[in-house]
Amino acid sequence: MHDMIGVHYSEIALKGQNRGYFEKSLRQNVRRMLKGEECSIESVHDRILIRLLPGANEKSIGEKLQCVFGISHFYPAFSCGKSIEEIGLKAREIFQQVPKDKTFKVKSSRADKKFPIDSQELNRRLGEIFYNDGYTVDVKKPDVTLHVDIIKDFALVYTEKTACYGGMPVGTSGKVVVLFSGGIDSPVASWYAMKRGCRPVYVHFHAMRSNADAAKSKIGRLVQSLCRYSGRAKLYLVPYDTFQVSCASDYELVVFRRFINRVAEKIAALEGAKVLVTGESIAQVASQTLDNMAAIEEAVKIPIIRPLAGMNKDEIIAKAEEIGTYELSLGDYKDCCSIVSRHPRTKANLEKIKADEEKMNIEKLAEETLAQAEMYIFD
Ligand code: ATP
Ligand code: MG
Repeated sequence: MHDMIGVHYSEIALKGQNRGYFEKSLRQNVRRMLKGEECSIESVHDRILIRLLPGANEKSIGEKLQCVFGISHFYPAFSCGKSIEEIGLKAREIFQQVPKDKTFKVKSSRADKKFPIDSQELNRRLGEIFYNDGYTVDVKKPDVTLHVDIIKDFALVYTEKTACYGGMPVGTSGKVVVLFSGGIDSPVASWYAMKRGCRPVYVHFHAMRSNADAAKSKIGRLVQSLCRYSGRAKLYLVPYDTFQVSCASDYELVVFRRFINRVAEKIAALEGAKVLVTGESIAQVASQTLDNMAAIEEAVKIPIIRPLAGMNKDEIIAKAEEIGTYELSLGDYKDCCSIVSRHPRTKANLEKIKADEEKMNIEKLAEETLAQAEMYIFD
């Protein structure tokens, strides 16, 4: 049984003066995600060390770490004293599981520069032990790589690394408001924004009987499932029936999109979020032509980020499956009515749209709609 997990970060280590802030955020996020697990967390030499306590569930901890953005990789390890003898003994224990016909190499690194033996020499001396035990060295493509990290108070010995998503710790880039439809695309868009350090505040417009019904629907389930990446998250539920009753335009779909962006912009102001995020992908459907996207964006001042702009539908679906939202997105959704034009216009006429919006008194409608919004918290 391993007694430590070493956690490494890549990109955040490069962030110059802000480095301390990024490290602290990552440590905090790791701590939140591992709440309830039998372990303790500390920082040593550019890495986070997770000490596994008696009864720790290594598999569960590993699965959670894989969802924390900012981690480049982690490795379950054995700790031991820093003498060659102790490291050799520990490594031999590991090698008991390795058949004799396997090739190996030793790869050591010294984070503790005061350690008297340099890495090359350490590799050589440890390599000798296993060579004498009958294993063959292969420095190019070994079957087993024995990693030895010399850190402050002990050495870590391990053979397996697990790659993670990298990116930035959630929260370090600030907040974004995600226009969340419950389809396949917007959960994936949200995931990409989180990967770059954004903390998502979800906004969903619905035509269900109540906000509480919407919270219990697949929308709530999707937000809940994305919490494994973000931790605690807010979801604003906003009924749009007032809009639906008042809307009279040939460009119904574009007017609706402009409308939800207006309301989302107000929520962003309340939340201190700097941008909106949508699941739009260029030319995927009629409402996502460049003309229509430009017309939609014209309604608001806040920038709109579209992480999926350049992705094909099959790529988005593959990602949704990987991050665990695809099945939920396919789930039933009982929206009693919806804004779907039978023949959606692909080329919006802004002048006409603005005239229609004026007749509907769109600004007042947005305020009234905002007043009906309710915020739910998921964890
Ligand atoms: P998705 O799979 O995310 O539903 P889609 O391919 O169905 O996307 P559209 O229905 O055209 O595309 O929606 C485009 C984007 O507009 C969505 O990705 C989402 O960001 C936003 N959006 C659409 N409907 C809603 C809604 N009811 N509430 C909040 N945002 C929405
Ligand atoms: Mg949709």
